[in-house]
Amino acid sequence: MKVPVAILGATGYVGQRLVSLLADHPYFEIVRLVASPKSAGQSYGQRMAGNWQLSDCELPAQLSAAKIYAPEPLEEALGPAKLVFSALAMEKDEILKLEEEIARSERIVLSNNSAHRWTPDVPLLIPEINAQQLEVLAAQKRRLGTQKGFIIAKPNCSIQAYVPALTPLLDCGLEEVFVATYQAVSGAGKRLSDWPEMQENMIPYIGGEEEKSESEPLKVWGQIKAGQIEKAKAPIISAHCCRVAVPEGHSAVVSFKLKQKLSQAEILDRWAAFNRDLPSLGLPNAPENFLSYYAEADRPQAKLDLRSEKGMGISIGRLREDPIFDYKFVCLSHNTLRGAAGGSVLSAELLYRLGYFEE
Ligand code: NAP
Repeated sequence: MKVPVAILGATGYVGQRLVSLLADHPYFEIVRLVASPKSAGQSYGQRMAGNWQLSDCELPAQLSAAKIYAPEPLEEALGPAKLVFSALAMEKDEILKLEEEIARSERIVLSNNSAHRWTPDVPLLIPEINAQQLEVLAAQKRRLGTQKGFIIAKPNCSIQAYVPALTPLLDCGLEEVFVATYQAVSGAGKRLSDWPEMQENMIPYIGGEEEKSESEPLKVWGQIKAGQIEKAKAPIISAHCCRVAVPEGHSAVVSFKLKQKLSQAEILDRWAAFNRDLPSLGLPNAPENFLSYYAEADRPQAKLDLRSEKGMGISIGRLREDPIFDYKFVCLSHNTLRGAAGGSVLSAELLYRLGYFEE
């Protein structure tokens, strides 16, 4: 029996990715598509005619006639769904309330939104990095008064290339990180063709992004203490976040300083060896190679390397000495796959394999 799922924000950029990943999934079956009241009542095919934004896949034909629901009334919107993927562009307070209400209805919520990222008993999950944060769910369920319902958040897309690359270096005393991100237009839920100011341009500001890029890694690396996730105390991160005229793919350039010095060869070995456990579970969207290093001087590039491991791998290149810090490198991740929909689906696959959906 497949687990019945609902997608909130199914008409948005991340929602479309969720639809394409879940339409023919071995563990999950889409039973509800939810969007704003202005889309509700239309069929998915009608609503998306001329609005399907993904250039690398088509709208799944079997969902063309599916009806779109509004979020209210909630039980009608979610129907038999036991798992809810949330990718809404709504006010933070509204999302906080809605996601908690869904968890209290004994459903599992996997959220792409920022609303619950700093709720202390909500894991900020990247399955390859911090699956141990799932242990905080017992405390969250006690707080919510639920048996099965809970919320898991996924971190911001901007951090999803450099946090994986830095994680294998943490035990060497990662002290200081400087990062500049070059983020794709789809990260704002847009296409280049619909955003004239962005064409042939770079905009050196993305509201709220630098704060998230500096603070969220510390929760990802945090440990559970007394039923809450306590954020890591180091490293200190300084981030510049820029929007660039690239359709998909967030790149980052990173410089970092370690207490315990490593050679370049040792860093490359750590990247090559990192996360050998998750692939052994055979999850459909788990990359075989989570971190891939390119020896060519001009890689990784969004155009060439974005689909590495079906968009779920992290591409790294240009590791070299830094005259101010110890080393610097370049990295790239797919913002709507690894950084959003694919990351949530991988988290759901892990929960499935760990038995969270068994009766
Ligand atoms: P988007 O393309 O603007 O889509 C927003 C979705 O929310 C649409 O389905 C929209 O439905 C729905 N919505 C808006 N108001 C609503 C309401 N009042 N009730 C119910 N549904 C409502 O946004 P997106 O880029 O997919 O991002 C969605 C979320 O994921 C955001 O929180 C974003 O920060 C996060 N995220 C995005 C990315 C990325 O790369 N794009 C990466 C990580 C995280 P209608 O079509 O009916 O308006």
